[in-house]
Amino acid sequence: MLSESPMPKLGESILSLPPFTAASVTADSSSSEPTQSELFETEPPPWELTVGEDVQLASIVFSRSPHGPYDYRIPDDLLEVLRPGMRVGVPLGHRKKPTPGWCVSIKTGNASHQKLRDVAEVIDDEPLCDAALVRLVMFIAHYYQVPAGQVFDTLIPASVRDNAGTRKTTYFRPAKGLDEEQIAKLPSKQQSVMRFLVGQDRPMTAAELAIMAECTEDPIRRLRKKELLVPEVRRELSQNIRIRAQHNDGERKQSHELTVQQENALSRINAAVDSGRGRTLLLHGVTGSGKTEVYIQAIEHVVKQAGSAIVLVPEISLTPQTRGRFEDRFENVAVLHSQMSAAERHFHWQRIRRGEVQVVIGPRSAVFAPLPNLGLIVIDEEHDTSFKQDKQPRYHARKVAHARAMALGIPLVLGSATPSLEAWHATQTGHAELVTMSERVGNRPMPDVQLVDLRIKEDRGKGGAISRPLHAAVLETLKEKGQAILLLNRRGYATTIQCPACGTVCACPDCDLPLTHHRDGGKAMCHYCDYTIPTPPWCPACRFDGIRYGGLGTQKLEMEAKARFPDARIARMDSDTMKRAGSHQRVLSEFRAGEIDVLLGTQMIAKGLDFPNVLLVGVINADSALHFPDFRAAERTFQLVTQVAGRTGRGNRGGRVIVQTFTPEHPAIQAAARHDYLKFVEDEMVNRKKFNYPPLGSVARIIIRGPLEDKTEAVADAIVDRLEKARDLLKSEVRILGPAPPPIVKISGKYRFHLLLQATEAAVVGEVVRRGLADFKVDPKEEIEYLVDIDPVNLM
Ligand code: ADP
Ligand code: ZN
Repeated sequence: MLSESPMPKLGESILSLPPFTAASVTADSSSSEPTQSELFETEPPPWELTVGEDVQLASIVFSRSPHGPYDYRIPDDLLEVLRPGMRVGVPLGHRKKPTPGWCVSIKTGNASHQKLRDVAEVIDDEPLCDAALVRLVMFIAHYYQVPAGQVFDTLIPASVRDNAGTRKTTYFRPAKGLDEEQIAKLPSKQQSVMRFLVGQDRPMTAAELAIMAECTEDPIRRLRKKELLVPEVRRELSQNIRIRAQHNDGERKQSHELTVQQENALSRINAAVDSGRGRTLLLHGVTGSGKTEVYIQAIEHVVKQAGSAIVLVPEISLTPQTRGRFEDRFENVAVLHSQMSAAERHFHWQRIRRGEVQVVIGPRSAVFAPLPNLGLIVIDEEHDTSFKQDKQPRYHARKVAHARAMALGIPLVLGSATPSLEAWHATQTGHAELVTMSERVGNRPMPDVQLVDLRIKEDRGKGGAISRPLHAAVLETLKEKGQAILLLNRRGYATTIQCPACGTVCACPDCDLPLTHHRDGGKAMCHYCDYTIPTPPWCPACRFDGIRYGGLGTQKLEMEAKARFPDARIARMDSDTMKRAGSHQRVLSEFRAGEIDVLLGTQMIAKGLDFPNVLLVGVINADSALHFPDFRAAERTFQLVTQVAGRTGRGNRGGRVIVQTFTPEHPAIQAAARHDYLKFVEDEMVNRKKFNYPPLGSVARIIIRGPLEDKTEAVADAIVDRLEKARDLLKSEVRILGPAPPPIVKISGKYRFHLLLQATEAAVVGEVVRRGLADFKVDPKEEIEYLVDIDPVNLM
């Protein structure tokens, strides 16, 4: 019966969720712990209570198995204290110490025959999540089928849970009603302490008092014993948190007079803000149309009404330029990023929660920022895959932002030059409003895109990665004192190390994937598990000593570029060169200052950068993502080419793009070359319709992994069996594909199998998975795990 647990769809409020029940949380596969019934079937010890009518109960969830929720009685002394969103310690099973858990709700119990245990302690002084965030946790737990306790742990950073960067300090104030007569009877040292403290208008620490009253801490201890000094414990920052200097990279600050299209976009967003209703707007603005200025002015509108905003950006685009644009315009901006220390993160979190911050900017996890007066959520580059978390809980920030915005009755603005088909589809079905900015600011034209067909030998040139036309264009750009960007979405030097005599390819023993040769240090590395060996000088199989490096990575491209353009200043940007904190920022500001002529790198350079002097963008191999076994391969290719092409033509000197490809006729590449998003959507929707792939249908993926291939496959088969039974029971139309080995059959020594479920409705897919896997357990000895990925974006 599906109607029992409907899933909120795009556009529905999460407040319509059914009450939370134990059955809606699936235990994870590794759980070998007893279930609730097992836990409580044993005879209750005498100290446990039999509950009568009208007792206050707290529902508690745990981040480790068993996950709950279980009900506990709230003892009288905690009745006034405990609220949902706080952590508690409760007895669980036979454990001696109280187990920490999260309180998700408080209700009046009427289960008079139930044996219940008491909440042992309340850990937090204040709830770490307000009621709305607790609802959001429950929504995520339900939709993504993860234990609510684990969602809490994601929502509340570890640094906050552990009070990073703070310590408890005890302050003393004089007891109430203390009079001169009492003080006069004290020994002299104690007298001087009390006299001093009474004269102060603030409580003081023992150390402070000892210094000021010129005594040891002993008299203070004695006074405390006599209860003449009353202690008060406060949590404070234990060190001066170094808040990193937040400079932008040299872009001059300007506020702009809006173009007509920007003006229109702004008034649509402002109207949504003023409507006080939850609405989604898709801001489809071509690269260079000035979307950021629109976000900023919309947020200014929200701030004027004492509201605040969250701006989500892909971590890679969290550049000094982006943060600078916001910091120049708002007084209190919190920039959250992955390189923050725990203390810094905690500091910002507290500031945000106290309502001291107007704008929070950050990657996907910033969607949870506890702003008390949230008025707007913006997701820039909403199509970016980094908004989906690739570990448990596998949430998509767009989905979570939508749920949060709708529950609060505030607008969600999605911005992109290449909207995801999901966002686009929402505008076609009435779930989102489309706002278009089709022109660049300053009447700048879109750059010319020229396709170079790599199948034609004369164009390809004599070997190497840079074709004749691209070579000529770089030279011309350098002559005009312009800058060039070269994109190659593959790091390393060579992508395969192969023996020309016997054909052996050096592969990772744990992942079965070809190793990539890195020149610095002569290492061969697996890009999935980091397995690294010195690059073999001869074939490990036949000992032939002419081993060849094939394929192409950014390191090799850098060598080639340096050889071809010896006078140019060339820099490489990929995750290998950007490992050190600040290196990203340094390269970008050198590029802005004109100290670099050619910037080459992976998709890191494709996103969001705005440099007016970039006259040329070269895409080395547009096909690299096109032939992945993934129904989104064409979409990814279209997005990457369009986005990187958008990095040029941003100044007054125009710009051009050269795209090298073996399949220039491919619709995605054709559409990208013409800047024709609508044509791309039209073509691509035909493909999606064939199998009802998203956005027309919904997909869930289950990955099963284990150390032994046959046992792992057997578990995968068993799961398919259960899913088929659940599907038949629910009489729902769900296609179940697999189990099959995924494109990456082995990672870190574990064999993998995956299966896909697919149907028109997300709720139907979710329910089949939920029912099918309920109580499914794998023998822990076999070390086989399975994981559920709802709405997967990665099918490798
Ligand atoms: P997008 O994110 O849409 O690609 P940006 O927000 O990066 O575009 O804006 C492109 C450039 O145009 C930036 O340098 C920005 O400062 C500038 N800009 C934005 N709006 C205006 C405007 N109304 N007039 C002049 N310049 C503008
Ligand atoms: Zn590996």
